[in-house]
Amino acid sequence: MQPGDTQSGVSFELNEEQRMVQASAAEFVDREIIPRISQLDRGHELDMGIIRGMAERGMLGAAIPPEYGGQGLDFVSTALVCEEIERGDGGFRTLLSVHLGLNSLTLLRFGSEEQKRRYLVPQAKGEKIACFGLTEPNAGSDVSALKSTARRVGDLYLLNGQKTWISYAHVADHFLVFAKTDRDAGHRGISAFLLDRSMPGIETRDIRHKMGVWAGSTGEIFMSDVEVPEENRLGGEGEGFKIAMYALDMGRFTVAAGALGTIRAALDASVKYANARTAFGRPIGRFQFVQEMIAEMVRGLETSRLLVLQAAWLKDRGVRNTRETSLAKWHATECAFQAAHMAVQIHGAYGYSAEYPVERLFRNARAPLLYEGTTEIHKMMQAEHVLGYRRLDG
Ligand SMILES: Cc1cc2nc3c(=O)[nH]c(=O)nc-3n(C[C@H](O)[C@H](O)[C@H](O)COP(=O)(O)OP(=O)(O)OC[C@H]3O[C@@H](n4cnc5c(N)ncnc54)[C@H](O)[C@@H]3O)c2cc1C
Repeated sequence: MQPGDTQSGVSFELNEEQRMVQASAAEFVDREIIPRISQLDRGHELDMGIIRGMAERGMLGAAIPPEYGGQGLDFVSTALVCEEIERGDGGFRTLLSVHLGLNSLTLLRFGSEEQKRRYLVPQAKGEKIACFGLTEPNAGSDVSALKSTARRVGDLYLLNGQKTWISYAHVADHFLVFAKTDRDAGHRGISAFLLDRSMPGIETRDIRHKMGVWAGSTGEIFMSDVEVPEENRLGGEGEGFKIAMYALDMGRFTVAAGALGTIRAALDASVKYANARTAFGRPIGRFQFVQEMIAEMVRGLETSRLLVLQAAWLKDRGVRNTRETSLAKWHATECAFQAAHMAVQIHGAYGYSAEYPVERLFRNARAPLLYEGTTEIHKMMQAEHVLGYRRLDG
């Protein structure tokens, strides 16, 4: 076994390729994102130049095989990219989650050869931006409640409905959306469709006044009699729920890996501040209550990393990893929110100001507890698995 060779055994050492991927992503974040993110965030500005930079470095196709325009990286490397990007800002990691995790990796698994050539290749090369539209105004955790319809007319479908809280909807070229082909069949009546912006009847809108990810994009999709050819259905009719669950196994992994970046950013800022700020004649880092918060961040970082690596190891082996990925996502996002919360506390009133990065980290760290399965949904999944009410493996 070679160090870092996740194919043949467990290792805690990165191999050379993984180290190179990590160093290159870190350099990009330090040069392109960190110096500008505070201004972009305050201005609610999505910088497409940063996204182009990510695309040029192959990040948008990280885990996609080279034959489909990607980098062919393993899941450890993909996790490292997500971690570094979120160390810069959660908004850009969200793009990786929807474009690569939820959309492209799902296309790779379920797409026909023709669909992969038309949609996956330009996505992996970063020439087209992709999003994932599952959530609706009245259907979030309860996916089977979705109301969008896909009515078959000859050899096409007419799609109608609304998707909300869709990351990057307003800038995406490609959309993977879910709609009911059979309204009475519950989750078995859902099918998946590939849409592109050029199709008449699609409109998008940005959501304003949200709590965080101000330098990212969150929007809505409106579908009004969108004519979707049969060849744009992903998988079989009624397979949409299964496809969405597979997509979430991929997306959640990128969210969990990204959370490590928030914990690191919170910890780095806190260590710096705790050593510099004095109170009662000593650096605040000398106080045990402050040390406790720093220690909790370290614990959150290390335990989250182990869960992310466990999920990556299973993914690289092609083994079902729903349970492990759910656990990694739940734990890492909760640890990231706690780390950001404690970082604000350590910074005192300055933590409440945009002068320091921890205020942005705190706002951004809230959303991952909601999307790709709320914390409660992940608790329910873990409990129901061990109680024997559902299987998350095998
Ligand atoms: C910034 C952001 C970006 C997003 N991006 C996307 C995207 O790109 N694509 C997309 O499709 N969606 C996206 N979402 C939507 C997200 O996935 C949903 O918000 C999430 O699935 C929860 O659905 P909901 O908001 O309707 O809450 P609900 O499902 O209505 O839940 C409300 C509350 O009830 C609890 N609850 C619900 N059911 C249960 C249960 N069975 N047991 C216990 N508690 C329960 C929940 O945990 C929560 O606390 C995004 C959301 C945000 C905030």
